Amino acid sequence: MTTPVPTGPIVIRRATVLTQDEDLGTVHGDVLIEDGKISAVGPDLAAEGATELLASGKIILPGFVDTHRHTWQGAIRQIGVGWDFPTYRRHIQNTWGPAFTPDDVYIGNLVGAYSALDAGITTLRDESHIQNSPQHTDKAVAALKDSGIRAIFAYGWPSIDSDKWMLRGEATHPEDIRRVRSELLSDDDALVTLAAMLRGPELATPQVTAADVALARELGIRMSMHVGNGPWGPMFRGIGTLADLGLLGEDMLFIHCCTSDDDELKALADAGAHASVSAAIEAVLPGLGAPATGRLMNHGIRPSLSIDTEASVAGDMFNVMRAAIAAHGLGVTLQPDVYEQLPSATPTDLLEFATIRGAEACGLGHRIGSITPGKDADLIIMDLEAPNLVPANDIAGSVVGAGHAGNVETVMVAGRIVKHQSRLVDVSLSEVRARAESSRDRLFKQPVADS
Ligand SMILES: [Zn+2]
Repeated sequence: MTTPVPTGPIVIRRATVLTQDEDLGTVHGDVLIEDGKISAVGPDLAAEGATELLASGKIILPGFVDTHRHTWQGAIRQIGVGWDFPTYRRHIQNTWGPAFTPDDVYIGNLVGAYSALDAGITTLRDESHIQNSPQHTDKAVAALKDSGIRAIFAYGWPSIDSDKWMLRGEATHPEDIRRVRSELLSDDDALVTLAAMLRGPELATPQVTAADVALARELGIRMSMHVGNGPWGPMFRGIGTLADLGLLGEDMLFIHCCTSDDDELKALADAGAHASVSAAIEAVLPGLGAPATGRLMNHGIRPSLSIDTEASVAGDMFNVMRAAIAAHGLGVTLQPDVYEQLPSATPTDLLEFATIRGAEACGLGHRIGSITPGKDADLIIMDLEAPNLVPANDIAGSVVGAGHAGNVETVMVAGRIVKHQSRLVDVSLSEVRARAESSRDRLFKQPVADS
């Protein structure tokens, strides 16, 4: 039996609050939410007129922040579990990507955003390299807005003529991003905002990269680049090239960094730039390289975490956090000389990476990422008395080691409850499924490219 979804002021009582705020630490008590913001945290808060949610036996965490997901691939999820990169490229970049219609992008982004919300991810950085036409772009943004998630739409490039865009061609970033900036996503305080997903020096030339970085800065938006991608890392040195060009900055998010060398990681740290570790995909995709978690930490970098693509891995942060731990353990076994010198991320570290560090990587550290009075109320309630978690002997260890989306009972974005009593609010999954299946069926009929 479900109760109506509370609206207006809400007080969550008697919870264990893992605030991820350095000053507040862990609080046993209440969280008061008013006007979409966290207004107070502490024991026995006065909250006249607020709807009470009793949360004894439960924890409150800031919503997770996924700093890199190719959300458009949501409806073709898990088709490529265990694929290597050439197989991924043949199917997704060279067969289905060019065949994607604007409606395929819409439903992919919608199911991707719903799977994120269901698993407690309240902020999604949508790395969208499916800009096949302005209509594709508009539908991608519309789905993010319709889902109710907080999103950074990172405008990438088309998934047509993949060689031209991905193999160090001469094409500079699509100019349509200017229209999106002025007409679609001009408000940097909105729930969905704009960033640029650039190719950077490992997928484009240094000249093209310099022009693309200048474009993003002219538009006043943050940018991301995939670097340290398998053999391309040492071959093209993405971060090192940007350092040589004098372009590194705090407004940059570097995705993967698996094969970036130590000089590059030092340059990243010195510039105050950000990193995104996609430990799950890095662990399963042969040749991409090992997760750089420990190497980044060794340089004082506290990375964010990301899913990458649901085509090959699960769309939740629990899987990514566990993969980071597993990768370090395997590293110690396989390469003890290297890994015994590196810090290993603890469950407490990983919760920090998945929340506040993600917020900072998106330029939103002042608004979200911790349970801090004055910040927007993006938070989740998890049930520690579920069969897989009771007794929770070490809360961070329990969440990271055994948590799953089913343990996430309540999800709130900017004070609005979007998952209530373990169900997404106002979502007809049967309708969504029918649209996703029809998109998938049409795409899967395409003859797969030879290379
Ligand atoms: Zn990626």
